[in-house]
Amino acid sequence: MTNTARARYRFAQWTLRAITTMAVRHFGLCLSCDERSTDTTDPDTAQLWCLKHAGLTGHTGYELSAFQHFNATMTDSPAGPTRRSSRPL
Ligand SMILES: [Zn+2]
Repeated sequence: MTNTARARYRFAQWTLRAITTMAVRHFGLCLSCDERSTDTTDPDTAQLWCLKHAGLTGHTGYELSAFQHFNATMTDSPAGPTRRSSRPL
């Protein structure tokens, strides 16, 4: 008895598109204790959280970050918008 596994690999092209109905989110992170603010659409609110945290704890190192949500779409699938022909031109 053989223990054989077979797999077929196919390389596909994908693209990312920002979800325009979801705004960029911002948050602050304390580098001393890893406490993190809630994420918000307002970058000033994230900075204010850092200042309040500094006042309460005396912690002085912070990181401000922003993130955005994306959808991944396969662009060369048979159902995709940019299907390539296998016939020579
Ligand atoms: Zn802290």
